[in-house]
Parts: sequence; structure tokens; C-alpha cells
Amino acid sequence: MTQKIPATIVTGFLGAGKTSLLRHLVAHAAGRRLAFVINEFGTLGIDRELLLGCGMAACCEDDIVELANGCICCTVAEDFLPTLQGILERGEAPDHIVIETSGLALPQPLVQAFNWPEVKSRVSVDGVIVVIDAAAVAAGRFAEDPAAVAAQRAADPSLGHDNPLEEVFADQLACADLVILNKSDLLDAAARAATRAAIAARLRPAVKLIEAEHGRIAPPLLLGLGAAAEEDLANRPSHLDAAGEHDHDDFESFVVERGPVADTAGFLRKLAAAATAHDILRLKGFLAVPGKELRQVVQGVGARLDHYFDRPWGADEARRSRLVVIGRKGLDRAAIAAALQA
Ligand SMILES: [Zn+2]
Repeated sequence: MTQKIPATIVTGFLGAGKTSLLRHLVAHAAGRRLAFVINEFGTLGIDRELLLGCGMAACCEDDIVELANGCICCTVAEDFLPTLQGILERGEAPDHIVIETSGLALPQPLVQAFNWPEVKSRVSVDGVIVVIDAAAVAAGRFAEDPAAVAAQRAADPSLGHDNPLEEVFADQLACADLVILNKSDLLDAAARAATRAAIAARLRPAVKLIEAEHGRIAPPLLLGLGAAAEEDLANRPSHLDAAGEHDHDDFESFVVERGPVADTAGFLRKLAAAATAHDILRLKGFLAVPGKELRQVVQGVGARLDHYFDRPWGADEARRSRLVVIGRKGLDRAAIAAALQA
């Protein structure tokens, strides 16, 4: 067993100071290899450019992936998980993964994604960091520019939740392992103390609150929290639970084995049909194709399937086809297996 790679989730509304925090992290990485997943699509491309523009050797282009297709918690299966797997499958795995969510994302469904079978064995959520605009919170607005947040919401067709900012804020606090109070220098002493106390009162015990200016926080305070948040969702309630509309997804996976596949194209059509009929989220594995020296790899997200030959079969390897099927709990395993073995 190798040690799991820690992943830190940084959330907070547009303008709260998440990017400053990330830039400071990159500038003080001290040789630690960081990979970033950026989902702040309201500022399309800008966060990535800002990070790349840091000019730091520790920050190479491949280490920053942008997820600009919509809210990260609503596109977990289609976008986030394949991206994370891409990072894990690269030659040199990072020392730490940092995920910046859009300000509208609810942290709980994202944390739950780390219970996905392919990910759980390799990565653990080191901590959820919530960056707060203290001045905006003190004014009851939560975000510096609520109109910009509303525009961000309107621009995202994949967004599956329309919670008011106050509820998103409550979910952020409920899931936090660390809260960064930015821009508190804009408040006078009394307002600053009152805001700090009001937020502290809403945090789980032992969750720390740090005041910062321009995201300048020493990396050891941010990374290495060891929260294993994915194991602790029961203590991090979300408005989605109360609404009952979007349970934290529980995933399951199983393996289907079968003999060689002579008609690959026909089989792929069958796979796509099964993925749609049974709401399969991910399919991956390889096929034995008669007369071919190479294994054929198949992988798919939903009904979108990719296939290619990867390597010759080993001399001592049984030429069998083997597929891992992943979906939400309650897959009809017997029906899926029957469809794939036909
Ligand atoms: Zn979402």
C-alpha cells in the first residue's frame, strides 16, 4: 500500500480571494509538486492564466487543469473524476492536488466523489478550505459582487441546484476544515470581531478560522490537515440532504468477464446501449479480439466510449475480456452482465 495522495478543496464565492491563496501556495511550494484543478468558470481562463503567469518553476502547464464546463459538483462523473484520474495516471504523480471549486459548487457532493472506487484507494481529501470575503459577509451579501455570482449561475446550464447564496454559504461552513477570513482589514475592529465570532459559532468543533490579507497564508497551515473528509460526510450536512433531491451519491463497481469479442464495433454499440439503459457512469477494461496480438482497451464515460489497442497480450495471460462497470448504488448487475456477455 502506498500512501494516498492528499487533495485539498478550496471553495468560496467569486471574489473571495481563492486565486490569491492559490498563487501564494504556488510561490511557496518549496519543491512540493502541486497539481491544480480549477473550476472557477465565471472568470473563464483567468485563474489558470494567473497561476501560469506566476513564473515559478514549481508550476508547470500540465499541472493545471481547468474544468470550465460547469459546476464541479454537478459534473462530477463526466468531468471531475476523469480529470482526477488523468492526473493520477500521469508518469509522475503529484505530491498534493489542489482543487479550486466555483463559488456556486456545494462542497459535499465533491467530497463524496472521493468515495468513488477508482479514486478512494489513491486519494484522500486532506481538507476543505473555505475562503470568505469578511467584508461581504459582514454586510450580509456573502459575495463581493452578487450580480457577478448571479451571472455565473445563469451561464451554467449544468447547474443542478439553485440554492440562495446564504444556503451555499451554510454548506461551505458545514463542510469546512479551515476557514480563511479574507479582507477583514476592510472592517473596523468591532465589525471584524463580530463577523469572526458569528462565523466561528457556525463551525464544527476544532475547525480553525484564520484571518488573512490577500491570501497570504503559510502553506503548512493549508496543506497537511489530514481530515479524510470523505470518511466524515455524516458530520458535514448539506442543504441538498434536506431537500432530498440529490443524495450524496454512493457508488458501486463490479467486473464482467467474457470471452473474446470478434465484432468490436457491434460490442461497443451494445456497451453504449447498456450504459444508457442502466445509467452506468463509467466503463473501463479491455477486450480480447480474435486474431489480434494486442489488447483492446475500452473506456467510457456514460455512453461515450473510447477504444484503442494498448499492448501485446503476455505469454502467460489468459485472453479474456474484462470490464469494470461503475455506477450509483443499485445497479442491476445481473441484467448488465447478461447484456455484456451476450
Ligand atoms: Zn453543482
